[in-house]
Amino acid sequence: MTDQELLALAEEYGFDCAAPMDAAKLEVLQDVRDACAANRCGQYNKTWACPPAFGDLEESRRILAKYKRGLLVQSVQTLEDDFDWEGIQELGKRHGENFQRLYQRLREAWPDLLALGAGGCKNCKECTYPDNPCRFPDRMVYSMEGFGLFVTQVCRDCGIPYNHGRGTMTYSACFLLE
Ligand code: SF4
Repeated sequence: MTDQELLALAEEYGFDCAAPMDAAKLEVLQDVRDACAANRCGQYNKTWACPPAFGDLEESRRILAKYKRGLLVQSVQTLEDDFDWEGIQELGKRHGENFQRLYQRLREAWPDLLALGAGGCKNCKECTYPDNPCRFPDRMVYSMEGFGLFVTQVCRDCGIPYNHGRGTMTYSACFLLE
């Protein structure tokens, strides 16, 4: 599949913005992993898709090094005001559903793809971690920050903004394909 075909697919699956990714540009940063470990999002050590479940930064580097290219996707919404929680929730729902649909489509071509989202896996109300294996390994979404990726920089390196301007909110996620 060419980059143009990937972009067309992202649009078809409802994303507002997308860009091809050069995986060689991905930089794993200790500061980002440290911020993750500070657990402001409450997910650290809570799911299979967040640290420390999938190893240290060396392991993140090793996993990312298997990939050469990918696809970054974004969902963008204009909010009524800074307290438009309904709009934020709608955006999160739309983004998550579209991401899972595209995930399954891309998996047909790339069974070993890696799905990464901002904030990690939200598939189950309660993750099985650490007592039982993941319920849906083929739908699992790893945390970009958990891998040590600075999402703002990842977007910049792909040539698209992390944030689409005042009054809007953006969710970013990506697939590493091959
Ligand atoms: S799919 Fe469910 S069990 Fe697996 S990592 Fe995500 S939340 Fe946990």
